[in-house]
Amino acid sequence: MPNESQPANIDDLISDFSRFYILTILYEGSAHGYSIISQFKKRVKKEVSPSLVYPFLQQLEEKGLVTHTQKPVGEKERKIFELTEEGRELCTGLFKRFATLVAIAIEPSLYVCAHCGCKVYEGGYREVIDGKETAFCCMHCARSYKECKKSVKQTK
Ligand SMILES: [Zn+2]
Repeated sequence: MPNESQPANIDDLISDFSRFYILTILYEGSAHGYSIISQFKKRVKKEVSPSLVYPFLQQLEEKGLVTHTQKPVGEKERKIFELTEEGRELCTGLFKRFATLVAIAIEPSLYVCAHCGCKVYEGGYREVIDGKETAFCCMHCARSYKECKKSVKQTK
């Protein structure tokens, strides 16, 4: 990983759940620091320290992943943070990776039937076809699969 030019760096930056979650809040729309903190609390049911949020936003801004605009909120000027195009791309990539991780965690033995394409969570049926172990949901699918293969061969 260290010789990958940029991503390793970003991984260090987003190495924990809080930072990851801050990004998901920003991904949904622009927000000021305080609203990030309160949305975080509402959804994660956990406090996030401003001493984590603000430096993180600043780091993201230094990397060109976030920009801010000043807007008056009540009597004060507040910084409204927003993801840049690059920041959004980074998030999309992260979310995909995260989704894959979750899928791996909750679907450890999932495979797809080679004949009907349905997802098989447990059991199923495996058969070696043309020297390759092939997975099916049931032996009927395995039979149909073999028949299809045979007829394809015959028509050639
Ligand atoms: Zn099947």
